Amino acid sequence: MKRILWFRRDLRVEDNPLLSFGGEVLPIFIFDENILKELPQNDKRVTFVFHHVIRLKSNLQKIGLDLKIFYGKPEEIFKELKGFDEVVASGDYDSYAKERDIKISHMLHFRYINDTYIFKPREVLKENGEPYFVFTPFYKKARAILEHKNIDTAKTAEHTLAQEDYWGIQKNGKKLLLELESIGFIKQEIEIVDPHVKLENFLKKIDNYQEMRDYLSSDATSGLSVDLRFGTISIRAVFRALFSLKNSDTEPFVRQLIFRDFYAYLLFHIPTLERQNYKYSFNGIEDDEKYRAFCEARTGVPIVDAGVRELLETGQMHNRVRMVVASFFTKDLLLPWQWGERFFASYLLDYDSVSNALSWQWSAGTGVDPQPYFRVFNPYLQSKKFDKDAYYIKKWLPELRDIEPKYIHNEAFLLSAYIKDYPKPNIVHKEAKARAISCYKKSLH
Ligand SMILES: Cc1cc2nc3c(=O)[nH]c(=O)nc-3n(C[C@H](O)[C@H](O)[C@H](O)COP(=O)(O)OP(=O)(O)OC[C@H]3O[C@@H](n4cnc5c(N)ncnc54)[C@H](O)[C@@H]3O)c2cc1C
Repeated sequence: MKRILWFRRDLRVEDNPLLSFGGEVLPIFIFDENILKELPQNDKRVTFVFHHVIRLKSNLQKIGLDLKIFYGKPEEIFKELKGFDEVVASGDYDSYAKERDIKISHMLHFRYINDTYIFKPREVLKENGEPYFVFTPFYKKARAILEHKNIDTAKTAEHTLAQEDYWGIQKNGKKLLLELESIGFIKQEIEIVDPHVKLENFLKKIDNYQEMRDYLSSDATSGLSVDLRFGTISIRAVFRALFSLKNSDTEPFVRQLIFRDFYAYLLFHIPTLERQNYKYSFNGIEDDEKYRAFCEARTGVPIVDAGVRELLETGQMHNRVRMVVASFFTKDLLLPWQWGERFFASYLLDYDSVSNALSWQWSAGTGVDPQPYFRVFNPYLQSKKFDKDAYYIKKWLPELRDIEPKYIHNEAFLLSAYIKDYPKPNIVHKEAKARAISCYKKSLH
């Protein structure tokens, strides 16, 4: 058997089931032109991925293998890869990935393995064989299965390399230097921390996770989403580390990881969730001016503008802020959730089409989850609770540096005061909330 091992969302050697087959192999990575041509030269994710692809290549070399790196369209590249019996890759559930893989499967036998998520999409089902659409029963069933599930480290088999030349980046039959610039991007200054170090540090403070995770300056979360997105750490390794802790409160974190699986599971069973409302026909009101103000962090609502600034500058945004921002976008500004989803998709380092689309549907109240349309976050109460001293807000909005925190959380003050270089709120929350509820209500009939 001669196999192509296609690395995608599993950029690591350790605990990678892709390497457990053995025999003659060609490990490859493709910088996908279909995706990259849409991105600006300074996209931070490409720097992150490039770093980890180089690391993967070097780690494969340490075990006698190598990585052939391509730039181009996967279907064109596979046309040139002749003489193989099958391609092996880990499963991916979004529409682009599925379409891409179907095209390749018409050229070469395609073997899907389960690596990105802990469960296979049909592993957690109701007694009658149907999928769960509500998280809590899914979680209970998943948790029971997990007790007995094999999450041991995937063994690396003996391999030989199917080809000899692994130099540079292959693009349209030419070989380019193994540099980010060869594929048209500019290296960005981003902090790249070894995911195992992140995990180790996080486990030391995991007892605080449940209580502190929503506080914006607490640093109480793991920061692992980007690594789980690109598979620079194995999800099984994270579970093994959690289960090895005997006297710690690991369950709230386990729950979040199962939540991540749940979203992928939902998208597998209801593919339309990626773009279409599951419930309610109301889908926001298009308004370019409001959208522009949001994207430029000029809504005048401090926690929202601070979140957008953090996103634009770092590619990150705290989960609580994502929830507040998405609620504000879909309910106060009443914009289509798909616009917000696309905006996040352009900047989030951990952008994942599954988690992003389903979280936006959750925020809009249009998804599968029983999140009611009339639940609207009050951004001022949220910032007062989770950023009481406004450290987070002032970090990203230095123009509010001299304003006392109690005024930053006070809508009436912000609507009436003049603040140099900072706009007044472009919306009155109570009125906007009433308008949103009325629009959603009408669409019920
Ligand atoms: C509107 C919106 C958009 C989002 N878009 C993304 C996205 O594109 N990619 C992404 O990975 N997460 C997304 N999330 C979920 C969440 O915000 C991030 O996973 C989290 O902020 C990452 O930080 P962390 O790794 O420190 O999280 P931790 O609190 O340490 O959580 C541990 C892990 O659990 C998973 N997780 C936690 N919360 C969620 C959640 N709500 N949905 C799915 N998985 C979760 C993540 O993989 C995360 O790494 C989004 C949430 C919202 C509200």
